[in-house]
Amino acid sequence: MDGRLHPAACLHRESGGRLHAEPDHSYRSCFQRDRDRLIHSKAFRRLGYKTQVFVNSAGDNYRTRLTHSLEVAQISRSICGGLGLNADFAEAIALAHDLGHAPFGHSGQDILNHLMQGHGGFEHNSQSLRLVTALESRYLQFEGLNLCRATLMGMMKRPHVYDCDPTLLPLLELRAQRQPALEASLADHCDRIAYIHHDLEDGLDAGLLNLEMLEDLPLWREARFAVQAADTTSYQRARPPLRIRSILRYMMDRAISDLMSETESRLAALPGASAASIQQLPAADYPVRYSAAMRQGLAELQRFLFERLYRSPRVMQMSRRGERIVEFLFQEYCARPRLMPEHYQQRMEAAGLERSVSDYISGMTDRYAELQFQGLSGRTQP
Ligand code: MG
Repeated sequence: MDGRLHPAACLHRESGGRLHAEPDHSYRSCFQRDRDRLIHSKAFRRLGYKTQVFVNSAGDNYRTRLTHSLEVAQISRSICGGLGLNADFAEAIALAHDLGHAPFGHSGQDILNHLMQGHGGFEHNSQSLRLVTALESRYLQFEGLNLCRATLMGMMKRPHVYDCDPTLLPLLELRAQRQPALEASLADHCDRIAYIHHDLEDGLDAGLLNLEMLEDLPLWREARFAVQAADTTSYQRARPPLRIRSILRYMMDRAISDLMSETESRLAALPGASAASIQQLPAADYPVRYSAAMRQGLAELQRFLFERLYRSPRVMQMSRRGERIVEFLFQEYCARPRLMPEHYQQRMEAAGLERSVSDYISGMTDRYAELQFQGLSGRTQP
């Protein structure tokens, strides 16, 4: 299995083992098992009803955290497969990367972080780690999913984790001293590639963005020219939504190809480098990157999305509503913890009141949080 991989790939035998030792599986590699454990987790299923940009009830065609995570996993697998890196490892990290998101997207996270000041704060990456190491309950022998050490380190985007299992501390220290594994860094880039392009599509579908606005963006303009020139008759005959999807597909393919070819040529300049030696490189020499033009183009797209979509009145309104619901629930459960399910009450002794409330609320889907709000407040509007 490892024999076909690039020398700088994270090999299956370099997974670092698990915090609770387990025998190897007869036909699944350690990273394939991690992927399977993630897909079968409760937290993963709940991503289907959590906001990406549009709240889950806004429409059936918009991305959710679940479809976003699947898109990130798909792109990560393609890129790593194409570069000879460990696609199973990248896939596991991609599937885990958004598990810790609170309901109502970033606004849910921000308000929870505000409410948790003085109690360790709240941050979705840290919460993802907490879910897979403590909160998921599927095994008799241990809490969490007992993922490989390499997968856990791949999930540590920031070397800060709150209220963690003390056995994680050596991994955190190790992660803080080095670059991420190539597969982890690529999965992180794929997260950005996926959300930039699908948020553009969802924003256009929702009518919050329009084609004229996009003409100011060089990456969009170049892609439109290229798609139009490749088959002018079909382009002119096509309805606008089909044109949009064709242009976005072209853009995404260009971003992926750019990341792959830049990374590949920088890797080629490091002959004999191993996964371990690459993680010791200074940031400037780390091989995963875009060309300067693509980096700039993507930054422009991201800025555009912030200004025109994420801060649009309709999205801000949905965010504000979500914030109010989370705030109400937090205060309610802190005042009356017995309203929480028994297993969250039981966790209070070890984790503290506020952390247990934060764990309970952050695990909620948008619709479950709405229902709890309505049940407890007797109102439909926060
Ligand atoms: Mg993401």
